[in-house]
Amino acid sequence: MAQSKSSTAAKHSGWDQIDSTRLLENIKILSSDQFEGRAPASKGEELTTTFIEGKFKDLGLKPGNPDGTYFQKVPMVGITADPSAQLVVTETVSGQALNLSYGDDFVAWTKREEPDVSIDAELIFVGYGVVAPEYQWDDFKGVDVKGKVLVVLINDPPVPDPNDPTKLDEKVFKGKAMTYYGRWTYKFETAAAKGAAGCLIIHQTEPAGYPWGVVKTSNTGEQFDLVRADKGMSRTAVEGWITYDKAKQLFAMTGKDLEALQKAAVDRNFRPFPLDARASLTLHNRLRTIDSHNVIGKVEGADPKLRDEYVIYTAHWDHLGIGPEVNGDKIYHGAVDNASGVAGLLELAGAFSKVPPPRRSILFLSVTAEEKGLLGSQYYAEHPLYPLSRTSAEINMDGLNVLGRTKDVEVIGLGMSTLDDDLKAMAAEQHRVVKPDAEPEKGFYYRSDHFNFAKVGVPALDMSPGVDFVGKPAGWGLEMRRKFTAEDYHKPSDQIRPYWDLRGAVEDLQLLHGVGSRVANAQASPTWSPNSEFKTKRDGQGKL
Ligand SMILES: [Zn+2]
Repeated sequence: MAQSKSSTAAKHSGWDQIDSTRLLENIKILSSDQFEGRAPASKGEELTTTFIEGKFKDLGLKPGNPDGTYFQKVPMVGITADPSAQLVVTETVSGQALNLSYGDDFVAWTKREEPDVSIDAELIFVGYGVVAPEYQWDDFKGVDVKGKVLVVLINDPPVPDPNDPTKLDEKVFKGKAMTYYGRWTYKFETAAAKGAAGCLIIHQTEPAGYPWGVVKTSNTGEQFDLVRADKGMSRTAVEGWITYDKAKQLFAMTGKDLEALQKAAVDRNFRPFPLDARASLTLHNRLRTIDSHNVIGKVEGADPKLRDEYVIYTAHWDHLGIGPEVNGDKIYHGAVDNASGVAGLLELAGAFSKVPPPRRSILFLSVTAEEKGLLGSQYYAEHPLYPLSRTSAEINMDGLNVLGRTKDVEVIGLGMSTLDDDLKAMAAEQHRVVKPDAEPEKGFYYRSDHFNFAKVGVPALDMSPGVDFVGKPAGWGLEMRRKFTAEDYHKPSDQIRPYWDLRGAVEDLQLLHGVGSRVANAQASPTWSPNSEFKTKRDGQGKL
């Protein structure tokens, strides 16, 4: 207990309940071999969700589901494509062909609930595939892409600043920051809306925010989606990625220069053009429907008038399960991602349950299938257990700081809501500062569970660890983050390390506890900033 106390530990009631030893213990259990990488609907799910439920019970939390349980069922469909699939691209005139092999050169899947899906269609390059009226940008220019396979670049168009071409124009696609137009989900949604037969994204490590290995491991094997009424038929038949090298070869085969075309695509006047090639691919799929589960516990608010309003803390419990072996290990332990967040959630649950409760109620929601495309949080947002209009705020944890104390914390999408003011006030008490995301180009705002809450109007806070470490030189934190992304992110090696130092995590949890307490005790609930893209949604829900 004593070792978790920092200089600020005693400031708020509940803060001394956050304990680094127990935090590490719980991360150890959740990331152990026994938990098999915590894949949804596996033995790992059973162990993980039972473990979380048990902790909630021990802490005296009430069942978070009004049906009297700690679980919310999340029905999903799992689709596994046969890895023998081959993507063949044939040049229309010469008949020259390029064979791409599944996993190494491309990955592809379908969101349609069908055992066999085939495409044999013309390829068309659509640049960044963006339609953004607010930036007067439309890559399609009315060109009919129905029935075609779109080849598209990842991220949003990197438009240079007219006054300083070494920088990106802040007025278009938020400069260096990734907007939703840059995300792969957007590309596939747009392709579907345009009636395309398929959509292949050209991978590039920097603009995507992660290397090919991440694309490969997260898109091969069983792919999940929420069970949908239309059985996924409104999606394109095939979605996928191809490596940059193969894309270059493909373009070269048809006499085109990918690099030159990439440059040409960074222009409002860009028009899609056919690649004079056809793509054919058949996916044989194994289908099954499964039920996974969100786990939810509640600390009831003290104020009879306000206890029907809620602050939600979330942390996804799932990780990648068992997968391809790397350095002799095939269990994807996910110690940082996100055993740490779940362990943090349990510390927060302890901190709220062991002291007199705040005025509003607090929900602790550990969601499933984040790694499958934020599905558990999407399911909750679409089937909320408590009215969203009475959900004051959502605070997400995905990957705690395991490297020691920091003088700062980061907020992805800083300035989006008044939650940032609460965070700044609490951080000031810890003599720490709140900074905007250091890597806005990676689009982290759209990459974790809080996004599904923001989408439905609930002010959502996505705080991430700081980079300015006490006792370390400038740049060390970012370097360590880069190293984690390159070496351990979504690999079996995301494990507890001897050099871990959880004192920073304890301070971050105290901070998040402070923010939640402030919100839960305040007269009024947080609001979106006037210029936030999520404000309209909230306004439609009526006053709290
Ligand atoms: Zn995660």
